[in-house]
Amino acid sequence: MSNKVDLEKVSAWIRNKWSTQECPLCKHQKFKVGSIEFEMKEFKGSEISVSEMFSGAYVPLVLVTCSNCGYIIPLSAVVLGIENPDGKK
Ligand SMILES: [Zn+2]
Repeated sequence: MSNKVDLEKVSAWIRNKWSTQECPLCKHQKFKVGSIEFEMKEFKGSEISVSEMFSGAYVPLVLVTCSNCGYIIPLSAVVLGIENPDGKK
């Protein structure tokens, strides 16, 4: 199951917090906010069981992609206020 991203909330956060609104790689200022959340999970080794695969710490992320060069900026969905630390909205 994937979580939809509140694009209005992310856009407002970017306007308020990202002072330059420039890509750190190419300096362009056009971005696309991903419409679904991703997660970065705790690494538990390359040979793990299925139950281990679905356990452990994770960080919910919203991905912002530079429209010019493709650089991807991962932002914490918790800090953006669209996800609680326990994974519930
Ligand atoms: Zn760029």
